[in-house]
Amino acid sequence: MKRNQIDPQKNMSMLQAMVACKCPVCTKGNMFKTAATDLWNFNELKEECEVCGFKFMPEPGFYQVSLFFTYAVGVAVFIVFGFIAYYLFNDPELWVYYVVILIPAILVTPWNLRYSKVLMLYFLGGVWNSEREEE
Ligand SMILES: [Zn+2]
Repeated sequence: MKRNQIDPQKNMSMLQAMVACKCPVCTKGNMFKTAATDLWNFNELKEECEVCGFKFMPEPGFYQVSLFFTYAVGVAVFIVFGFIAYYLFNDPELWVYYVVILIPAILVTPWNLRYSKVLMLYFLGGVWNSEREEE
């Protein structure tokens, strides 16, 4: 089956598969070895999809660019929670900013790192452009 064909057996849309961190080709296999709540291994990708065999590492160093996405989301969290602290506590002392900004920034880190890899693979991994060999 070609990668860009629509598989009638698929039970998820591409968007649902992205949110669930599923394989971009078959939308069934998990991309990551563990759940996002596994603090020590949340960012570890599987080498390939256990359902269709798609390789999650298209080339060495593929996911290095995903750090730009991680950085952008991190800055956005700092700005949003900085404004929340400013307006909620009426321009509080500096330590309040630290607490209000750093706690959400730390809490979203696993999802931020994981979704930056998911977006990289879905949009830059050549999933929709190239043909896959017949099995
Ligand atoms: Zn797959």
